[in-house]
Amino acid sequence: MLRQVAEGVLIHQSEFCQSNAVVVHGRAGVLVIDPGVLGSELADLADDLRELGQPVVAGFSTHPHWDHLLWHARLGAAPRYGTARCAATVQDLLSDANWQARIAQAIPPDIAGQVPLDLLGLITGLPAGMTQIPWDGPDVRIIEHQAHAPGHAALLIEERGVLIAGDMLSDVLIPMLNLNDTADPIEDYLAALRLLEGAAGDVEVVVPGHGSAGGADQVHARIDQDRAYVHALRDAQVSSDPRVGPSAQDGWDWVAGVHAGQLQRLARRSERDSTPG
Ligand SMILES: [Zn+2]
Repeated sequence: MLRQVAEGVLIHQSEFCQSNAVVVHGRAGVLVIDPGVLGSELADLADDLRELGQPVVAGFSTHPHWDHLLWHARLGAAPRYGTARCAATVQDLLSDANWQARIAQAIPPDIAGQVPLDLLGLITGLPAGMTQIPWDGPDVRIIEHQAHAPGHAALLIEERGVLIAGDMLSDVLIPMLNLNDTADPIEDYLAALRLLEGAAGDVEVVVPGHGSAGGADQVHARIDQDRAYVHALRDAQVSSDPRVGPSAQDGWDWVAGVHAGQLQRLARRSERDSTPG
């Protein structure tokens, strides 16, 4: 089920929202980033790794949204990490006695019951300012920013030319801004794109959290496309983004609703901000 995208870097794409799990080979086992969504897929991934003789030695969640925080007992008990801010956000969620019910509301009904929640979010926050994942394998640089979710991390494996973008740089999903408790979500997003652009120099493969992996030509094209979308959103212009509307890929027509919702919430925010008193 795993497909190699660069030397020692493999991905598995979930049926749910084309979610990408990433496996990185280290010296004594593998690092698993955002392992997947459906219980059966997580179990299959664990079985495949076992067959390859590759124990999981570390896990990482790119950001504190449910579809990036899952795990399966068969993947083992290796330490799982996220940024300090990501882990704090998850802590907050899990401290609510009703967290399972709250998460269940976010899961589409057609896969409800197939998503194992018991090991969700059991991650350790890395010390703020730590710029590498602590593990015995190729350097994995953490590029932390505040677009999409608090403590969101993109990961750069420089010696393999791979950028793992989390929920950015997708060919199917538009930039989804974090509009909760943020002062300037547009600028947060643009700042994150600048960080990715600064890191993207020698990247040959970009792996988004959802959608297709892209080659070298896609890295800057996707950064530009996301930036153009955010500019259009900021200026309340009609977006000609191919991910929204009739040009959206099969099964992604709901993205137009996400776009409309973002426009509406931003309009409400600016109304509120311009109200005197
Ligand atoms: Zn996601």
